[in-house]
Amino acid sequence: MMGKHLKRYRRISKSVINKSFPFLKNRKIIYIEGKFKYLGNAKNLGFFAIVKINPILRNFSDKELRGFFAHELSHIQRHKERNLFEKLSFITRYPFSRKFRIQEEKGADKMTIEKGYGNELYALIKKAYSVSKGHEKRLKASHPSLNEIKRLTKKAKK
Ligand SMILES: [Zn+2]
Repeated sequence: MMGKHLKRYRRISKSVINKSFPFLKNRKIIYIEGKFKYLGNAKNLGFFAIVKINPILRNFSDKELRGFFAHELSHIQRHKERNLFEKLSFITRYPFSRKFRIQEEKGADKMTIEKGYGNELYALIKKAYSVSKGHEKRLKASHPSLNEIKRLTKKAKK
């Protein structure tokens, strides 16, 4: 049986997929909760994908969660768009290069904003800052600032 939180995540993620990630409509996506340093992560394993969700997100609003899923699904789309060489390069560099990880996070945020979820991303990051100093610090290290998100969102609307 699936818990009520996972049901809610699934529903919100589905709505984001149907609207903005049509290639994922028939893909099996497994949602799991797990305590870890980050808000979440996504792994694209070809036939299926896994989205890991920090339980702190249980208290986040639907809008904030739309921002979260748009970001995680953007990682999956970015991975899908890589050719084999780029995939191998990604897998070998990701764990070892901080610069590379930051580049991936910023790329996923950019895609999130271009798909029309800039306000949702803004709300998500702002809420996450308020959860703890640790989350604020980690998010500030690898994502655009709130002002930068606002600026990029305005720019994307033009
Ligand atoms: Zn990310």
